[in-house]
Amino acid sequence: MFSLPITPPCGALIGGQWRDTSETLAVQRPASGDTIAFIARCQADDVAAAVAAARAAFEGKLGAWASWSAGTRGAWLYAFADAIEADAENLARLECADTGKPMTQAKGDIAACAKYFRFYAGAADKLHGETLPFANDYAVMTLREPWGVCAQIIPWNYPAQIFGRCVAAALAAGNTCVLKPAEDACLSVLRMAELAVQSGLPEGALNVVPGLGSEAGAALAEHPDIDHLSFTGSPQTGTRVTQACAEHHVPVTMELGGKSPQLVFADADREAALEAVVRGIIQNAGQTCSAGSRLLVEASIHDEVVAQLKARFEALRCDVGERDPDCGPLINARQQDKVVALIDAAVKDGITITAKGQLADDAPLDGHFVVPHLLTEVPQGHVVSREELFGPVLVVQAFADEADAIRLANATDFGLCAGVWTRDGGRQLRLAKAIRSGQVFINNYGAAGGVELPFGGVGRSGHGREKGFEGLRSYTRIKTVAIRHG
Ligand code: NAD
Repeated sequence: MFSLPITPPCGALIGGQWRDTSETLAVQRPASGDTIAFIARCQADDVAAAVAAARAAFEGKLGAWASWSAGTRGAWLYAFADAIEADAENLARLECADTGKPMTQAKGDIAACAKYFRFYAGAADKLHGETLPFANDYAVMTLREPWGVCAQIIPWNYPAQIFGRCVAAALAAGNTCVLKPAEDACLSVLRMAELAVQSGLPEGALNVVPGLGSEAGAALAEHPDIDHLSFTGSPQTGTRVTQACAEHHVPVTMELGGKSPQLVFADADREAALEAVVRGIIQNAGQTCSAGSRLLVEASIHDEVVAQLKARFEALRCDVGERDPDCGPLINARQQDKVVALIDAAVKDGITITAKGQLADDAPLDGHFVVPHLLTEVPQGHVVSREELFGPVLVVQAFADEADAIRLANATDFGLCAGVWTRDGGRQLRLAKAIRSGQVFINNYGAAGGVELPFGGVGRSGHGREKGFEGLRSYTRIKTVAIRHG
């Protein structure tokens, strides 16, 4: 029987106190199906208590949060980044057990989370408004103010990283937070909330309400007293959350899915490109919003590239995350069934599985494994080249020339990321402009996840930006003050 390295509090954090709920939700380890924890199943009244605590903290009626200056907030964020790093081993092991991801990736996620807190710590006292030229008898300025109570609904694929990017930015800007983590994986988030309390974060500044999306999530999105909502998750849920927020004119940031292309031209550094192509689809077993799930390759090198990828895919090892394989299990049986069904549909429609990775012989039978798959000569209209599979499945298509490459890259409703691999400087710039996407990476894919870089989508991938300074600004609003001095 698997046991966790440490047991985080599994209740709801409301106004600085941990509370149990009458019902709980079992959390399973994706690698084996073992139940590893029971988390709170918050209902609308728990969510309402959390929003009330966040409101009271924001207005100075609970705890010291409202009295903290930007510099004090920054100092706390620095100290909290240290606390995360001091607990990094426990946090990474929790993340690995809970999400199934390989240990190296889990460690990277915890390091990135600490980096978010450090980045926004330094930025907290560097956010400011402006003075504006206007009529001679006026002085006009803008004040950059926090929204107030920020609701945050996050997914299971990167709990620690997304906790970092949302919570660090919102707190740095002076907001208070009510966070609804995902029911499938949130143990690292609960442990970090515990560390935040232990590190002296004032009551009510951060509230956490675990539970189901249809219960706690919906109650949070529908709550009339939130000032802003940041959602990271699927486009379908994003639509529902947006509709709920529209009811009370609550502004939203939507970080949704993707079907991101990687374009490899004949003049590319092939070794670097293929390394990034494989990494871009197996990272977190393909359950990554920015997964490079479509490979578009110049026709003249198509067959050679497919042969090279075949060898790489066949060498990929799939196993439990703790053994640090290339690829871990998928999050749950539902996700596994969905991905397998889509692969089966592709095969039925005549699409070739050119290569598969290998599952460790002693991998637990109840683990939700899907080995990496390489699908080639996939027609553009097929569901596997259009929809986000959220599994380690790479779809390969050939393009004739630059114009054809742009056409294929943009033949999607999504627009999150794109990778472009070419040594031609002019083409690099032309593609950076022509591809309809929130991020274009030239001769790299993902810029090593840089927390400093703004991130977000266009189209069905969402709107608004998190990360970087742009992400910090998105947790504020502008107030214009016009003084007529005569
Ligand atoms: P999901 O939409 O099912 O769930 C996301 C969160 O929303 C969870 O906390 C869930 O409990 C909650 N939720 C579900 N129904 C709800 C409702 N009716 N009202 C309010 N909240 C509700 O998504 P998922 O399967 O957890 O995550 C995978 C998706 O997230 C993928 O599409 C992926 O691309 C996307 N994602 C995007 C980014 C990004 O930054 N763009 C990052 C990570 C994941």
